[in-house]
Amino acid sequence: MAVPKKKVSPSRRGMRRSHEALTPTARHECSNCGELKRPHHVCSSCGHYDGREVMAADKAKGVVRL
Ligand SMILES: [Zn+2]
Repeated sequence: MAVPKKKVSPSRRGMRRSHEALTPTARHECSNCGELKRPHHVCSSCGHYDGREVMAADKAKGVVRL
């Protein structure tokens, strides 16, 4: 088993972990149904994109996961 030569101080450990924060996933409201959807993606609940239906609503379900 590897044994560390020096213990990493709480300050150094915190500096390393300063880059590990997770960013929240982007979500926009669908202009047609108001459901939250990923931006630049077909709405998963109504199948609309850019103001028109591009995919059947039941078919769109399960294609795009939030
Ligand atoms: Zn929608």
